[in-house]
Amino acid sequence: MTSYKKIQVPQEGQKIELKNGKLSVPDFPIIPFFAGDGTGPDIWRATRHVLDQAIKTAYSGKKKIVWMEIYAGLSALKNYDKDTVLPQETLDAINEFRVAIKGPLTTPVGGHKFVCLVCSAEQNEDNGRRPEKCVKCGSEWLTPRFRSVNVQLRQKLDLYACVRPVRWFKGVPCPVKEPEKFNIVIFRENTEDVYAGIEFENGTPEQKKVYDFLTKEMGKKFNPDSGIGIKPISKTGSQRLIRMAIQYAIDHQKPSVTIVHKGNIQKFTEGAFRDWGYEVAKTEFRDKIVTEAELWDKHNGKLPAGKILIKDRIADQTFQQLLLRPDEYSVLATPNLNGDYISDAAAAQVGGLGIAPGANIGDKAALFEATHGTAPKYTDKDMVNPGSLILSGVMMLEHLGWQEAANLIVSALEQTIQDKTVTYDLERQMTGAKKLKTSEFGEAIARHMGKAASVAA
Ligand code: NAD
Repeated sequence: MTSYKKIQVPQEGQKIELKNGKLSVPDFPIIPFFAGDGTGPDIWRATRHVLDQAIKTAYSGKKKIVWMEIYAGLSALKNYDKDTVLPQETLDAINEFRVAIKGPLTTPVGGHKFVCLVCSAEQNEDNGRRPEKCVKCGSEWLTPRFRSVNVQLRQKLDLYACVRPVRWFKGVPCPVKEPEKFNIVIFRENTEDVYAGIEFENGTPEQKKVYDFLTKEMGKKFNPDSGIGIKPISKTGSQRLIRMAIQYAIDHQKPSVTIVHKGNIQKFTEGAFRDWGYEVAKTEFRDKIVTEAELWDKHNGKLPAGKILIKDRIADQTFQQLLLRPDEYSVLATPNLNGDYISDAAAAQVGGLGIAPGANIGDKAALFEATHGTAPKYTDKDMVNPGSLILSGVMMLEHLGWQEAANLIVSALEQTIQDKTVTYDLERQMTGAKKLKTSEFGEAIARHMGKAASVAA
């Protein structure tokens, strides 16, 4: 086992191993976690309580997660050398222990030089010197601007698929008439596209060099005062993502996989994503799939039993389709930027932006996370909705193969929402609802699991 400087590896519990590409999960797996910044600690406490209770209820002590704290964002600044927001040993621990869960992290947005990890405020130097305190909240936890820790985690751990299941929970207020028709899982490519971080700022020598190359050597024309971003989309990156999406559809008996792209405009990146997707479907899953063209050419428009339909849609059309005919879609595979937009729009459609779960999955490790940000204005108020992180925990339990515990949480969460006992974000949209704190919402879910277990007994 690797030795760590600040991370305390628990004495009890065992490591999850990878055997022939499959997870081997002991009954007492050690699982690394960090609570995150802002409201992260509030939602993490509620989530941990719910996960522990569900496992206890489902397995009567025969299985248990042994939690191991690791550090990123503010917790890393407090525990490691100055200005370290993502310690190497956090990456090493996630790689070694294979499955981890995290709260949200502050990410700098503007062009300022320093960022406060308590309230997310950004500011410049103070008379040419590093500011000692945050001008907004007075905290001393200011650090020089850094690249998104979330993006770094995904890229450095090669967690190439961002997986977001989106479905409606009965009772959740939402803007569409038939939210129950919506039940899709989005596989968004996580490492490439415009998120690759290959950008050149207008006015810099690097930008000038790239501009000269593109205009003089490659014969392209565009304004010289442009910021320039590069959008790499590779065959390897596309095919491993689409392969995972198709395998998921097979394992979960889903009817279709839709490759979403903007190939009509960006032929060699998004268009290639589509072509490479069909290639992987036809070469690696031939006996399990039917393409949309084959459906009409060979099967008279009727999908043969047990087969998965592989189709593709242009990204903008996908937004319309998800609103108008959501029940025709099941699993989506998308490049990075399209997937980012579509996942948030889809979650909003079923009213679940605050309770939408997510995971970042690679071949060696998986990191489950709340999909929203740190909501800094509610820090330490025990107020925000922990649903997103709780449902990400449900995805984690399913990933471990602990389906019984996962099912208990989903039905208890549904029951809690149907009782109209919810956090402020849902309460203000429902009539006759009772507002609960973050911790109380977690306790209500745990109580429902207890009731379900005693009824079953
Ligand atoms: P945010 O998601 O933190 O909050 C926006 C608003 O959404 C909040 O003010 C709140 O009204 C609501 N909200 C968010 N989570 C909620 C919850 N659990 N329950 C109830 N309401 C909730 O987005 P932001 O304010 O743009 O970003 C704040 C910080 O979080 C920034 O530094 C941003 O970069 C970062 N961020 C991190 C992640 C991540 O770690 N995955 C994702 C998005 C944003």
